Amino acid sequence: MAVTGISQGMSGVIEMLYISQELILQIKSKAERAYPNECCGFIFGSLKNSGKYAEYIAASTNSSAADEQYHRFIITPDAMMNAERFARSNGWDIVGFYHSHPDCPAVPSEFDTANALPVYSYIIVSAVKGKAEALLSWELDRETDYTQFQSETIILTKENYK
Ligand SMILES: [Zn+2]
Repeated sequence: MAVTGISQGMSGVIEMLYISQELILQIKSKAERAYPNECCGFIFGSLKNSGKYAEYIAASTNSSAADEQYHRFIITPDAMMNAERFARSNGWDIVGFYHSHPDCPAVPSEFDTANALPVYSYIIVSAVKGKAEALLSWELDRETDYTQFQSETIILTKENYK
């Protein structure tokens, strides 16, 4: 079976992220407000065999140095722990992270790749001159021992997954 334009992991499972148009618009709006810096935040939802189902997003502080925020984001372990607690209290998991690339394509930087964790979805939105444009999702590739990103298919849903 030919699958074109879709990356497949070693298991043959196609990576999928189910997310509503509303959440996509929220992420784009945060990218535009943070411009010319990078915005960043969490994607909460459920992790299932068939893919990840986004339910909710929440912003995080970009903890990289002020003069580095135009091209990188850092989420501290404390912020991560608080987000984990928030997820648990709502019956969710953290399924991924979003961030913006001011005036750069929506593809992971070397810094992103070096700091990424397996399984999570990484949504990147390109903000060109302050306007959110391309938005793509990425996941570390098992086949490369999680050293490279592969693109992840985004399935737009009308409503959040219940
Ligand atoms: Zn990045």
